[in-house]
Amino acid sequence: MTDARRAVPGTDKVLADPRLAPYLETRGRDAVKRAIHAAQGRARTGVLAPDDVVTAVLDDLAQPTGARPVINATGVLVHTNLGRAPLSAAAVTAIQDAAGTTDVELDLATGKRARRGRDTVAALADAVPDAGGVHVVNNNAAALLLTALTLAPGKEIVLSRGELVEIGDGFRIPDLLTSAGARLREVGTTNRTTVADYAGAIGPDTGFVLKIHPSNFLVTGFTASVPTSELAELGVPLVVDIGSGLLRPHPLLPDEPDAATALRDGATLVTASGDKLLGGPQAGLLLGDADLVERLRRHPAARAMRVDKLTLAALEATLRGPEPPVLAALNAELPALEQRAQALMDRLWEHGVPAAVVPSRAAVGGGGAPGVTLPSVAIAVPAHYAPLLRMGAIPVVGRVEQGRCLLDLRTIRSEQEDALVAAVAACA
Ligand SMILES: *Cc1c(COP(=O)(O)O)cnc(C)c1O
Repeated sequence: MTDARRAVPGTDKVLADPRLAPYLETRGRDAVKRAIHAAQGRARTGVLAPDDVVTAVLDDLAQPTGARPVINATGVLVHTNLGRAPLSAAAVTAIQDAAGTTDVELDLATGKRARRGRDTVAALADAVPDAGGVHVVNNNAAALLLTALTLAPGKEIVLSRGELVEIGDGFRIPDLLTSAGARLREVGTTNRTTVADYAGAIGPDTGFVLKIHPSNFLVTGFTASVPTSELAELGVPLVVDIGSGLLRPHPLLPDEPDAATALRDGATLVTASGDKLLGGPQAGLLLGDADLVERLRRHPAARAMRVDKLTLAALEATLRGPEPPVLAALNAELPALEQRAQALMDRLWEHGVPAAVVPSRAAVGGGGAPGVTLPSVAIAVPAHYAPLLRMGAIPVVGRVEQGRCLLDLRTIRSEQEDALVAAVAACA
């Protein structure tokens, strides 16, 4: 035991090993030292041979840190577990440019303080001309919270029983609203709510009427809900949570609400997510009445929901730049996907992978267009590839269906194809 302990190489000796030099650069001295201490500890207890300390440290440091890039082959366009919207190349570049010191709150012409993120705000205002004012917070949940804090502390929020949505991971919009000190005034039933239900509930205690898009479930059959244009006639502020963040109507998603239409129909305020169908970074968009938006912006809690400069940069680039990947995946034509699938299948056969091209159905996912499936095409490989693909050097997440692993072309980006072929070939 004493001998083994004595034989454990000292920290300085391991640190001096030239094989560790690159990690001192990329990971920093403290991280390298932590890995050394861990390996020394294992060597002292006899779990690791003293001669293997350096190898163990190298293995440890070679492990990827942080979130790993994953190829989304699920066919779910906005996959919450995979980080929702992948950013466009333009947005990625904008983040890099914004990462240093920037003029985010400075007017370079006058040298004076300027409105934070004014370029992003301008891009959003240009994208939604019907909005008198716009503001950006951390996410749509923050947008709703700020709205409730501003318009309804100690007051009632009137909303339909059919729109009491759980967003995910156990978080529920009704609980979020009451956490702001508002009371909920639920009206109607799960399947049917009429304008008379709302009208009967409105009174001196009303803070606002809230219409929430049931973005992750469908109620079908004997149903009724009240359109925005009718709710706008009730004489109290009307807030519409459209959820997914379409700024304008999209021809492939006729039932998905969009900001421009909601505002034109008379909504006082629209809230939406930046990282769903808008295809940008995580953000909460507040669009609508100029005076109300200004009140939201000046509320003390707004400071706690402020977006960082990286998000502002990515959002502006998404709004001003080319079609982001989520929209490209939504708009992709089936024949083009089929052609790519065929070419991929041929390449996989060359690597000995028994691949087939099969029809598939893709979905928007991520709290948008719950009833919509998009015609798609997939590469089918044996089901036992699925865990291997997830655990590979470049993880690929597909869908296991009817005893096969499907890799859906609608969410695989063209620039990921070489990596995909390599990942699948490694399973053969
Ligand atoms: C997704 C969603 C939210 C929450 O948005 P985040 O940006 O994730 O905070 C709220 N309401 C609706 C209708 C949604 O679809």
